[in-house]
Amino acid sequence: MNETIFTHIINKSIPADILYEDDEVLAFRDINPQAPLHFLVIPKKPIATINDITPADYQVVGKLSGVAAEIVAQQGMAEQGFRTVMNCNEYGGQTVYHIHLHVLAGKPLGWPPYQATIKQG
Ligand code: AMP
Repeated sequence: MNETIFTHIINKSIPADILYEDDEVLAFRDINPQAPLHFLVIPKKPIATINDITPADYQVVGKLSGVAAEIVAQQGMAEQGFRTVMNCNEYGGQTVYHIHLHVLAGKPLGWPPYQATIKQG
């Protein structure tokens, strides 16, 4: 099994500030927020990266966006706009290998994203 820190958040063996939960999906505030509202929406199924998504996962992966929009609307930040991001592997900046949709809201966000320096070899 692909066990990560998010497995422990799902199992409630470590605490998180949970914003939404059902049988398939969990949303909780990011511990290192990059915007006034920054939370993560994850499937409870431990899918490591976007590369590991199969057709059987399409329904729950789509649900991540729907739940994200509902939470932002509840927080009164939907009209101003917000950003969702799902990082993949090293170049994408992924650090936790359980897919998660970042949701950032509450301030204007720059585009394009900054260029990170990644050690090669
Ligand atoms: P990524 O770099 O896209 O894999 O994002 C991982 C995110 O998980 C980062 O924004 C971290 O701040 C966040 N994170 C790591 N551990 C926790 C935790 N225990 N509770 C909430 N967010 C976390």
